[in-house]
Amino acid sequence: PVVTRFAPSPTGALHIGGARTALFNWLFARGRGGRFLLRIEDTDRARSTAENTQKILDGLRWLGIDWDGEPISQFARRDRHAAIAREMLARGAAYKCFATPEEIEAYREAARAEGRSTLFRSPWRDVPESEHPDAPYVIRIKAPREGQTTIHDAVQGEVTIANDQLDDMVMLRADGTPLYMLAVVVDDHDMGVTHVIRGDDHLTNAFRQKLIYDAMGWQVPVMAHVPLIFGPDGKKLSKRHGATATADYQAMGFLAAGMRNYLLRLGWSHGDAEFLTDAEAMALFDLTGIGRSPARFDFKKLENLSGQHMAQTDDDALLAEVEAFLEATGQPPFSGPVRQRLRAALPFCKVRAKTIPQLLEQARFALIDRPVEADAAAAKALDPVSRGILSELTPQLQNASWERGSLEAAVAATAEAHGTTLGKLAAPLRAALAGRTVTPSVFDMMLVLGREETLARLGDRLE
Ligand code: GLU
Repeated sequence: PVVTRFAPSPTGALHIGGARTALFNWLFARGRGGRFLLRIEDTDRARSTAENTQKILDGLRWLGIDWDGEPISQFARRDRHAAIAREMLARGAAYKCFATPEEIEAYREAARAEGRSTLFRSPWRDVPESEHPDAPYVIRIKAPREGQTTIHDAVQGEVTIANDQLDDMVMLRADGTPLYMLAVVVDDHDMGVTHVIRGDDHLTNAFRQKLIYDAMGWQVPVMAHVPLIFGPDGKKLSKRHGATATADYQAMGFLAAGMRNYLLRLGWSHGDAEFLTDAEAMALFDLTGIGRSPARFDFKKLENLSGQHMAQTDDDALLAEVEAFLEATGQPPFSGPVRQRLRAALPFCKVRAKTIPQLLEQARFALIDRPVEADAAAAKALDPVSRGILSELTPQLQNASWERGSLEAAVAATAEAHGTTLGKLAAPLRAALAGRTVTPSVFDMMLVLGREETLARLGDRLE
């Protein structure tokens, strides 16, 4: 069975890159009936905060990425990591190193001066236990010095490094605390992780991690190192390019489904499929579809996908998303008849919006109360002649049955009686109903507002 994981370090918000890593792991597991686990890599005690962890969990929840079981704290497993370092010591795969920081620095300086590699070669590597001093020590891995190490990466292919470029990295500090490289391997092994999908900034770590797997006789999971995300200018994505935290996109009102679809397509492809539902994404996502060159972030494409997902979202679900958005952005909720009008306006507003704020702008006529304030263009459209026509339309609407055909007939008849067109009459109608001249169709608006509210809004203009 497939087991994947997302292993963020809680040193900041959930970023686009991390979110994409989480999404890939989630889709890969969910599409194969596997498990998707969450591990918080909180070993950097100075920079890991509960607040950041919360931000990451909130970001994943907003994105609709769910994990199995409880999040695992890496820090909480430090005794287990230390035990493995000692186990490697017992197996002769690691050794105690008594070199002091000063000695290591002196080694490096000498190496630099002589133009040799500055990788520290500890004099303690082959010293037998009987000759060890009673002094603080770190535990180092006994890395091979000859030959080469090869990783079969599902994205990058075969990647090989000469072993003389690997140092005897420290796995356990003198105070008994484990180092990150050890913790990752032990955790992935203990969690039964079968596939490690992560950013290719971890590719060089993979060689060093493989040494630990090999030393313990553990199976190396399938590795897939995904190229990082670049900005539209081809440089590594950063704040300079705009928002990088998922929370920023949530606050901008992108639909989570659109964001998922966009992140999926950012670095993964399946033919020319662009719009994908979650079910399609789970069925189709595979490691072979991951590209080998960095993906460029394209804000327009994100907008378009968000809009497409909005148009496809069921109206009740969309209303729930709007309400979650209002809550997340600290805005008051809609209630009573306004909420009902919003719900009724969604079918025709959602096809003209890409984000939730755009949706609310489309539906603005339904959300406002009387008296409707007219902007400059609307005020102009409500000239005396137009108001005269509206006053004659009013009795027609009073008698029309409140459905599209009759409303269209009533407006058309009034327009004709005044030798004008329906198009011309639409402007003052929009202005009276919405206070704007650019709005959804007047008939859609009338149907949502109902007879009473429609006539009241018209009446407000006739006094
Ligand atoms: N904690 C690492 C990071 O945030 C991820 C390590 C891994 O996926 O192996 O980049």
